[in-house]
Amino acid sequence: MNLIRLLVIVAIVWLVYRMYQNWLSSNKIARKQQARQAEIKNMVQCSRCGLHLPENEPLKQGGKFYCSEAHKN
Ligand SMILES: [Zn+2]
Repeated sequence: MNLIRLLVIVAIVWLVYRMYQNWLSSNKIARKQQARQAEIKNMVQCSRCGLHLPENEPLKQGGKFYCSEAHKN
C-alpha cells in the first residue's frame, strides 16, 4: 500500500510540475503576443504613400500621419 501511495504522490507531483511548465510557456507566449500587439498599435500609416512608421517618427497634421514633409503638403 505504501508503494502505491508513493506512486500516486509522484504522479501528482509530476502532473503539477507539467502544468506549471505549461503555464510558464503559455505566459511567455502571451507576453510576446502582447508586446507584438503593442508594437502594431504604435505603428501609423502615411496618408499619402501608405508607408508604415513608428508613431513617434511621422509628421502629424489634422489627425493624419505623413512619412515626410513632401507627403504632408
Ligand atoms: Zn509617405
